[in-house]
Amino acid sequence: MRLKMPLNTIVFTVAAMLVIAGTAAVCAIVWRNGELASLRETGEHRLTFATSQLQNEISRQDYIHHIIALDPDVKDVLAASPARPGSYPIHRKLAMIGAEANTAAIYVLSRNGTVIAASDDSSPVSVIGTSHLARPYFLGALTDGSSAFFGIDPAAGRTSYFLAEAVRDGETILGVTVVKIDFTAIEGTWEAAEEKIVVTDENGVILLSGIPAWRYRTLAPLPSPTKAEIIYSDRYLGEKLDPLAVTKNDKIGRDRMISVDYAGGVSTYLMQSTQMFEHGLTVHRLVDTTSLIATERDGGIIGATLASLLLTLILYLRQRQRALSIARQSQAELRSAVAERTRELQVANATLQSEFDDHRRTERELRRIQSELLQASKMAALGQTSAALAHEINQPLGAIATYAASARLLDERGERAAVQTNLDAISGLVDRIARITRNLKRFARKSQDDPAVVFRLREAVERVLVLVGPQARGAGITVDTQFGADALICAPPVPVEQVILNLLQNAMDALADTPAPRIDVDITEIDGQAILSVVDNGPGLDGEALERLFEPFFTTKPAGIGLGLGLSISHGIVESLGGRLAADNYPGRGARLVLSLPLHDNSIGHREALAIA
Ligand code: ADP
Repeated sequence: MRLKMPLNTIVFTVAAMLVIAGTAAVCAIVWRNGELASLRETGEHRLTFATSQLQNEISRQDYIHHIIALDPDVKDVLAASPARPGSYPIHRKLAMIGAEANTAAIYVLSRNGTVIAASDDSSPVSVIGTSHLARPYFLGALTDGSSAFFGIDPAAGRTSYFLAEAVRDGETILGVTVVKIDFTAIEGTWEAAEEKIVVTDENGVILLSGIPAWRYRTLAPLPSPTKAEIIYSDRYLGEKLDPLAVTKNDKIGRDRMISVDYAGGVSTYLMQSTQMFEHGLTVHRLVDTTSLIATERDGGIIGATLASLLLTLILYLRQRQRALSIARQSQAELRSAVAERTRELQVANATLQSEFDDHRRTERELRRIQSELLQASKMAALGQTSAALAHEINQPLGAIATYAASARLLDERGERAAVQTNLDAISGLVDRIARITRNLKRFARKSQDDPAVVFRLREAVERVLVLVGPQARGAGITVDTQFGADALICAPPVPVEQVILNLLQNAMDALADTPAPRIDVDITEIDGQAILSVVDNGPGLDGEALERLFEPFFTTKPAGIGLGLGLSISHGIVESLGGRLAADNYPGRGARLVLSLPLHDNSIGHREALAIA
C-alpha cells in the first residue's frame, strides 16, 4: 500500500533535513576550527619550547671555543714545534672545562687540522691524532677566524653543531679550537615524550628528529641534481636523503596539514614551523589530528541534535499556536453561537411574554365573560321565578293592607287587643316578605368572588325553595324534601344555591306536562361526601340528553326559553368546588340529578355554619 503524503509535509520534511544537514555541517566546521585553534595554541607553545631548547643548548656552549682560543696553555701547546698530540696536561684542562660546561667535545686542532688536544682524551676512543683538515668548520676558522657548521659527525654518526675559532699569536694563526654540540639528549626527550618534532635545514633534510626513522629523510623529494650535488657533502656524508611518504601537504593559514604514510598507516598531522634564521634551521612540530576528526564528528552530531531539537521546538510551538488559534476560534464561535442563541431566546422570551400577557388578558376576559355568564344565567333562573315571587310578595302585601285598614277601624272602636293581633299579623307578613327579598337580594348580587364559608347543604336547599317554592306551588308541583343529614360543607354559598336552583328549575320545566308532578329532594352523607339528589317524575333523559347534558348550548327547550347553559355552568361551579354533578334516569320515575360536594371537617365546629344560617 502506498502512503500519500501531503505536499507541504514533504516540503517541510525536505527543508527540515536540509536544515539539520546544514547545521550539522556548520557545527562540524565550527567545532573543527575550535579544536584546530586549541591544537594550534598548544602547538605554538610546545614549538616555542622546543626551539628554545635547541637555542639554549647552543647558546649555553657557543662561548667555550672563544675562551679556549685565548687560553695561554692552548697557545703554548700550539706554538710548540712540532706539536705532540696526547702528551700535554692540556687534555685534563679541556676535559674539566668540557665536563663543567657539559659539552659533547672540545678539540684543539693544529695548523694542519690534526687533533692535538681533546676533552675526551681519557676515553677509550681517543680522537687525538685524527684529522679535521677537510672539515668545513676548520677551513672556515682558518679563513674567517671563526665558523659554525651543522652536519653529521663522522665520529658519532649523528648530527652535531661545530663551532670553531682560530687561535692566534698576533697575526699568526697557531691552530683552531672546536666545540662540538650534541643534540642526542634533546632528541631523546622528544622521543620519550612522543613529540613529533623535526628540525630541517635549508634543503628540507631532517637533521634532528623525535622520530629516529625520519632522521636524514626529506619532507619533500629533492630535485635529482641537487640531491646528487649534496648527498656526499660534509653535512650528509652519503646518507640517502630519501623523502618521507607524504601523501598530502596543504597549507592552512601559517601552518600545513600533512599526511604521512609510515609505520603501516597514514597519519595526518597539523605541522607548525618556526625558523631559526641564525642557524639556517627550521623547527617543525607535528600534531596528531585524530582528535580533530572526532571533534568534527561530535560537532556534526551536536549540530544535528540541536537542529532537530530546534525543529521539534518550532514544530511544537507551531502546533501549540495552531491549537491555540483553533481553540480561540472555536471559543469565538461558541461565544457568537451563545450570543446568537441568547438573542433568539430573548426574542422567544419576549414573544412568549407577550403571548403570556395576551393569554392572561384573554383569561381575564374569559373570566369576566364567565362571571357575566354566571350572573346572567343566575338572573335568567331568577327571571323564571320572578312572576311567582311577585305573586308571593303581592299576596302578603294585600293582606297587610287589609289588616291595616281593619286595625284602623278596630282602633277607632277602641278594641286595642284586636288591633294588637292585627299588628302582630302584619309584622309576621312583613317578616315573610323580608325573608323573600333578603334571599332575592343575596341571590341576585354578584357572588363570584365570595369567600368560602361553612354551612349546611340543607339550609341552602331551604333558601332556594324560598325562591322557587311559589313557582312550584303555582305549577301544582309537590316538592318533597328528605334531609337525612345536615351535610356540612365549606364553599361560597350563592354558587351552590345557583346549582340547586338550576336543578329544581329544570325539574319543574320537565314536569310541565306531567300529571301529579312531583320533585323529591334528598340529602345524605356518603363516604365524606354530601349528596343532594333531585328526582322528578317527568319524561326523564333520552340517550342524546344523557350524553350531552353538560355541554354548553345543549337544550331541548324552544328557542328563547332555554339557552342550554344552566347545567354546563352548574357543572363548572361544582367542579371548581371539588365536587361532582351526575345525571341518570330514576327507575320508575323521571330524571335524577345528583350533586356531591366534599363534606367539611367537623372539627371546625358549627359556629361558622350557624353564622351563615
Ligand atoms: P336549559 O334549561 O336552558 O335547556 P340546561 O343546561 O339547564 O339548559 O339543560 C339542558 C337540557 O337538559 C334541557 O334542555 C333538558 O332537555 C335537559 N334536562 C335537564 N334537566 C332535565 C330533567 N329533570 N328532565 C328532563 N330533561 C332535563
